[in-house]
Amino acid sequence: MEVYFEDKRLGRWDSGRKIFFLVDRTKYLEEYLNNDLIELKLSTAVKIRNNDEFLVEDKKLEKEKVIVATGVTWRLKERDMVANTIQYIMEGVKIDEVHTMKFLFYQGLVGYAWIFPLSENSVKVGIGGINVSVDELENKLNSIIKKYKLEGKVVKREGAPIDMGGLKPEWGGGPPYAIGEAIGAVMPLTGEGIRPSIITAHALATALTKNNNYKKILSGLGIYKASKLQRKILERVLKQGAELPFKDKELSPKTIEAIYKLGMGELGLRDLLSLASKLPSLLRGII
Ligand SMILES: Cc1cc2nc3c(=O)[nH]c(=O)nc-3n(C[C@H](O)[C@H](O)[C@H](O)COP(=O)(O)OP(=O)(O)OC[C@H]3O[C@@H](n4cnc5c(N)ncnc54)[C@H](O)[C@@H]3O)c2cc1C
Repeated sequence: MEVYFEDKRLGRWDSGRKIFFLVDRTKYLEEYLNNDLIELKLSTAVKIRNNDEFLVEDKKLEKEKVIVATGVTWRLKERDMVANTIQYIMEGVKIDEVHTMKFLFYQGLVGYAWIFPLSENSVKVGIGGINVSVDELENKLNSIIKKYKLEGKVVKREGAPIDMGGLKPEWGGGPPYAIGEAIGAVMPLTGEGIRPSIITAHALATALTKNNNYKKILSGLGIYKASKLQRKILERVLKQGAELPFKDKELSPKTIEAIYKLGMGELGLRDLLSLASKLPSLLRGII
């Protein structure tokens, strides 16, 4: 994993093990849906009225049996930290280091860009940020593609708002119950939402099968604690006028590892203190 600021490499950490996985979400979901118990209706929108009424083909659903998993569109207007994103999947690119993920930070961008290789000749390259338009992001993305010599064929162009405001157990319900990004299950510093969403789905399954309180389980999750810390850091960066503490820094592998752990919500106290000594302005007043 490598971290850059204004296209200068600040540091690199070789994890020595697989830490990032690329998931084919369609295939992943199909595995679960291949099941006689499930009646699946593809390409069928559920009409939602006032966050409270759910209709499929004009038939009202029993609210007690609804699990909202619509992603960020649920209660979108009530979210206070929404980032725009844009990502290309590119082919015909020459990738030297297939197992190296690059994270690129820029002055003035509350967010980051990413270069995630898919193979020796294909890559996911994207960028996201708060208070910045998709057009501005896409211009920057195209300059990154040139700078990092990733020119090839764009086979997919995608993007969506991401809720960076953190997990909201109080939105969990029910009824209706809600899981995933619908309740902000996204790590605020990274925009990582797949793993946190699965964790909330697992929490709901546990609550329903063991007759426990879902909101209480959500409030006890490690990702909830981590997302609260990350949100505080993000608020600070936004308040400081988008000043990231990376300028003129060189980051040791240990510090990059601590940044990784912070992003994943796995930072222990020791790592946290060590990170605070390396990047004091990031955590001042927070720990
Ligand atoms: C460009 C980009 C890159 C990302 N990269 C990563 C990454 O590398 N790693 C990571 O962990 N996360 C990443 N994320 C975040 C991650 O994709 C989301 O947090 C995650 O997909 C949320 O999962 P979900 O199931 O809650 O919602 P979604 O994946 O958003 O799924 C919700 C589904 O519900 C459907 N839906 C919505 N409303 C209705 C309705 N009324 N009726 C019927 N269907 C409806 C939608 O069409 C969608 O298919 C990225 C997000 C973006 C935008």
